[in-house]
Amino acid sequence: MSAKIIDGKAFAADVRARIAGHVARLKEENGITPGLAVVLVGEDPASEVYVRSKGKATIEAGMNSWEHKLPADTPEAELLALIERLNGDRRVHGILVQLPLPKHLDADLVINAIDPAKDVDGFHISNVGLLGTGQKAMVPCTPLGCLMLLRDQLGSLAGLEAVVVGRSNIVGKPMAQLLLGDNCTVTIAHSRTRDLAAVCRRADILVAAVGRPEMIAGDWIKPGATVIDVGINRVERDGRTRLVGDVDFAGCAKVAGAITPVPGGVGPMTIACLLANTLTACCRANGLAEPEGLTA
Ligand code: NDP
Repeated sequence: MSAKIIDGKAFAADVRARIAGHVARLKEENGITPGLAVVLVGEDPASEVYVRSKGKATIEAGMNSWEHKLPADTPEAELLALIERLNGDRRVHGILVQLPLPKHLDADLVINAIDPAKDVDGFHISNVGLLGTGQKAMVPCTPLGCLMLLRDQLGSLAGLEAVVVGRSNIVGKPMAQLLLGDNCTVTIAHSRTRDLAAVCRRADILVAAVGRPEMIAGDWIKPGATVIDVGINRVERDGRTRLVGDVDFAGCAKVAGAITPVPGGVGPMTIACLLANTLTACCRANGLAEPEGLTA
């Protein structure tokens, strides 16, 4: 194994400690406490786990945390009324509606009802447009976390060939926009891409966000490349359930220069960036300088 293993857990812990420091100063010097409201509709067990860990991380950072749990059959008008209330609540700087929503609710309508300045997931159409036009936006947490890891590893990304495999609205597309913003030459690959292996072999930076266990093989990697594995896939192996990424870790680590593991790579950065976005939203709402190194 030759690649450096990128320790996302340690890096995320460092980001969270820096955020906690900022929050403490905001409280002391400005009397302001950043606050995040998370809305969960229904009882999806995975969503409940995510919401609980987001709330815990928010409190650990010294921020205010509110959890709004609504029954699965909540009418759309009721959910929209809650969002309207949170939009108008000055103590709330970030609003996150946990996805997926039950089928009777229109997720686009709900997300676009959030005040874009409080849209800490960066999914509001205004933030998508701002990011796409290179303006100051709230940036989706997972790609922002990947960007932070890449900048930490490589310094300037200017001129590097970046390949993003996956074109979802929550990971692939915003990731590509962020890499373009950092002056990479960007290719977005997807299920219709011809000769994906050859496309990947061009990459100085390869970001895999596909959702297919260990699809990216070692001989798809350019020697020395930096490989960011966003995938989280549950597989049965040796009678146990294990988490693996979209990248064949053992095979790719022999060729890459640096690589994120799964778990312990990108995953921990997602919550760290949710906290970063909440802090950024709070600073912007109060006309204060944004913390350095926590935004795109
Ligand atoms: P989506 O299912 O929304 O998108 C997957 C993308 O992969 C699509 O664009 C699809 O292409 C592409 N794809 C599928 N099969 C192939 C293939 N054989 N070759 C090339 N491209 C392919 O997934 P997400 O973006 O939401 O998530 C991707 C992965 O990242 C998942 O494993 C998810 O669990 C994980 N994830 C991890 C997070 C974290 O915190 N670490 C956060 C969010 C997601 P097409 O558009 O053509 O169908």
